Amino acid sequence: MRRISILGATGSIGQNSIDLIRRDAEAYQVVALTGARNIAQLAGDAIALKAEIAVTADESLLPDLRAALEGTGVEAAAGAGAIVEAAARPADWVMSAIVGAAGLAPGLSALETGATLALANKESLVTAGPLLMATARAHSARILPVDSEHSAIFQALTGEDIAEVERVIITASGGAFRDWPDEALARATVADASTHPNWDMGQRITIDSASMFNKSLELIETKEFFGIDPERIEVLVHPESLIHALVGFVDGAMMAHVGPADMRHAIGYALHWPKRRDLPVERLDLAAIGQLNFSAPDAARYPALGLAREVMRTGGHAGAVFNAAKERALDAFIAGQIGFLQMAEVVEATLGALSGHQMFTSEVETLDTVAQMDHLARKTAGTLIGVRAKG
Ligand code: NDP
Repeated sequence: MRRISILGATGSIGQNSIDLIRRDAEAYQVVALTGARNIAQLAGDAIALKAEIAVTADESLLPDLRAALEGTGVEAAAGAGAIVEAAARPADWVMSAIVGAAGLAPGLSALETGATLALANKESLVTAGPLLMATARAHSARILPVDSEHSAIFQALTGEDIAEVERVIITASGGAFRDWPDEALARATVADASTHPNWDMGQRITIDSASMFNKSLELIETKEFFGIDPERIEVLVHPESLIHALVGFVDGAMMAHVGPADMRHAIGYALHWPKRRDLPVERLDLAAIGQLNFSAPDAARYPALGLAREVMRTGGHAGAVFNAAKERALDAFIAGQIGFLQMAEVVEATLGALSGHQMFTSEVETLDTVAQMDHLARKTAGTLIGVRAKG
């Protein structure tokens, strides 16, 4: 039996992972399931899957988790440290599906055991790509991408020589506002931004898709994971979300990965790699679909993409600052403190404010410096948000 853990089990990716595991339950021993606020889901899944331990990030909810698990034999724990410890329990395969920078430390912890890390938490690569990759190498652990674009690139590169890659293209649906006129964006509400035309995802990534912050994180993720020169990574708007990425080779050929907009494909690919197994996803009828559309992203409409390119050029801790400022700005947008377009303004101003910091361009080698820059960026972004909220 394969021992597996799911970090962020109660979220969209976590639940899709559990859906696949449930279909073949006798093949897996579930070690740890983690969540935060959704205790009923966490406890219910831990009992049904006979997990060894269930952990909530929220310490105030430990009594509720304990009560829900009483008499079941499933251990209960709480807090960020307990999640890191649960991730270190021996497992063959660990799904990293916590949202945000909170996913970094548990992912590193799993890699240190030599486990295979199925990586949905793109923020880990954005904030600390070199550290994550070095930790995997040091412990002979494998990272398998779960983000659909990166799974697609990974699949297109199978059997290929990375030195023969000329360009990589990641596609973007255009998010909730792709058909909105520019002047309407300033008035976009949280409800407007929380509906994705093609994908059913958690709220934060759905809003990030509307602002293209999600795509900007993915640009950095592509650079860090595949080691591809940023100038060779392109974004292409493709409203149907059926081609997830394309890899162009030096001979002019392009390999495109085509599949339904269903995360169970990328999760299942990482779960069964290096084999392919039957997955419960739609088979595409291209004749019925008829046509696929493509266009270049509008740089003025989506400033997040330009900011990501600046972050890639800078390297060092710029990714940690970028991600933390983005998370803080997103919190403020969700809380109604700033408008949709102000998120990019806050991130840009935070990058500017911290660009002179001695650690901004220094190599990412420890979790400590990443945590420090993350903290500083959230504080700086918070001040900038305060100014805008008053203004
Ligand atoms: P969700 O918001 O649906 O789920 C997030 C998960 O993280 C939940 O289990 C949540 O617990 C938990 N969580 C929230 N805050 C914390 C915290 N501070 N510490 C520990 N756990 C926490 O997110 P998604 O599933 O949409 O996304 C997860 C990750 O996967 C993100 O990095 C996202 O960018 C990436 N991703 C997602 C895709 C998708 O289709 N959804 C596609 C590609 C990548 P609870 O719900 O109990 O509060």
